[in-house]
Amino acid sequence: MNVLVWYENRPLPEHAEAERRVYPNGIHGELSALFAAQPGIQARAATMQDAQQGLSDEALAWADVLVYFSHKHWREIDDGRVDAIQRRVLEGMGLVALHSAHASKIFQRLMGTRTHQIHWRENDEWQRVWVVNPAHPIAAGLTDESFMIPRDETYGEYFEIPQPEEQVFLTTAQGGEAFRSGCCWRRGRGKIFYFSAGHETCSVYHQREVRAILVNAVRWAAN
Ligand code: ZN
Repeated sequence: MNVLVWYENRPLPEHAEAERRVYPNGIHGELSALFAAQPGIQARAATMQDAQQGLSDEALAWADVLVYFSHKHWREIDDGRVDAIQRRVLEGMGLVALHSAHASKIFQRLMGTRTHQIHWRENDEWQRVWVVNPAHPIAAGLTDESFMIPRDETYGEYFEIPQPEEQVFLTTAQGGEAFRSGCCWRRGRGKIFYFSAGHETCSVYHQREVRAILVNAVRWAAN
């Protein structure tokens, strides 16, 4: 299975150092190493700074699953690349959209709603991730009914998404918010999973439960 990990890789100047401290090799480096360490998975990292914004037809044709993390610069992705990703998803490529990729052009395109519309606060507060579908393959290995993320950005409802075909996780926050944090859809032959945890300056992707979810998610999304 081939996994392409794509990251915008252009933090705001005030966040760059904090992000480097948490992920010295970038989020793309951290996650591609995680996937490459799994049996049967080959992983590549790509960024917006690469040729064709790291999303060439060749790279997308190679990928069985695209893991996509964008943030502030989501509007700068060329519409032709959005068309190309959508085409590959409809053909059967899996898409795992992470955290602020809720606002990305490709996620909005595939959902058909204004998915950038959420309630959010950058506050480094705790979040509790509830496993609301324990039999789902993406929840495999999570034995507790919930787990804590000590520090992350808070996302809250209303999140303008079509009703998920499968809801796997629901997150409640220190501030009382609730958020549909782990959701599955199908478009054409492709499977899509959105997972909300992972603000760039919090070390969420080092956490055992989150890493298990991400590995489960790419295995589920692959055709
Ligand atoms: Zn964030």
